[in-house]
Amino acid sequence: MFSRRKFIGQSALGSAAAFLGGVSLNSCNDANGREITKEINTLPVVISTWDFGAKANEVAWGVLGSGGNALDAVEEGVKLIEADEENQSVGIGGLPDRDGRVALDACIMDSEGNAGSVCALEHILHPISVARAVMEKTPHVMLVGEGALEFAVAQGFQKQNLLTEKAKVKWEEWKVEAKYQPIINVELHDTIGMLAVDQQGNISGACTTSGLAFKMRGRVGDSPIIGAGLYVDNEVGGAAATGLGEIVLKSLGSFLIVELMRMGQSPQEACEEAVSRIVEKNKNYKDFQVGFIAVNKSGETGAFSVQKGFNYAVKTTKQNVVLDANSIV
Ligand code: ASP
Repeated sequence: MFSRRKFIGQSALGSAAAFLGGVSLNSCNDANGREITKEINTLPVVISTWDFGAKANEVAWGVLGSGGNALDAVEEGVKLIEADEENQSVGIGGLPDRDGRVALDACIMDSEGNAGSVCALEHILHPISVARAVMEKTPHVMLVGEGALEFAVAQGFQKQNLLTEKAKVKWEEWKVEAKYQPIINVELHDTIGMLAVDQQGNISGACTTSGLAFKMRGRVGDSPIIGAGLYVDNEVGGAAATGLGEIVLKSLGSFLIVELMRMGQSPQEACEEAVSRIVEKNKNYKDFQVGFIAVNKSGETGAFSVQKGFNYAVKTTKQNVVLDANSIV
């Protein structure tokens, strides 16, 4: 829970942060007024949802390592997963809506607070790049459906079929019963949300998904919604979500986590509080999964989920690990 004392303490830490040779040093005064310095983390840092985030983190790391910025890193990182036909929850190969259409959602946010988003975009391999084009080339934040597709084609993105044979078979199997269950099944989702803090301490994030499998046509979840599936504030940190989008949409979990960090919570504490709020407000919390990841300006990371089974990947100069998130259930 928010503590004013902690807020004052950590704000003081934050304002004194300095980045020296990739090492983040925070300094503050002890009770006797002496300055103490503490190593928080080594930048850059990349964190992604799910175990497949590890290979995406490697791509992002390659961008950061060659002097690239956090925005390029997160875009290139998640593009790897969008292009992976074996992944059935992001990009090509994603499970379609109940009419057999692969409709993709994505959003991106940079360290300047700019944001771009596409919803229910069909036929385009890299919705994250279209979201970035919305951010950089239009006065808008979000384009949806046909409009998003028209814009993408005008920008030179090629139309292609995104429904793979494997995804089609699963859809055909689903159609036998065609049971429409808005409650998420743990196998039917897995958005990639990625947050990167680059060498300069600048933060960006990306989030991309094919959404809930066999969803109603036009259904949009949390992933392309700024504040729900993703939020970044370069003064504070970033957060991203995965899981049942309807629940995240009603809690604006990513925005909440960034605000909690602004008030002094660590990324871990903020993720835990966001999940606790969801659990408090949803009696059926045992029936769905929601997971969050977060990073702060110092490169500290955190993650938490409603159910067991949520994992996430963290890449630092020392390691590229997949970690199991702690959970409420
Ligand atoms: N959050 C995504 C959605 O609801 C799905 C997921 O992450 O599993 O569209």
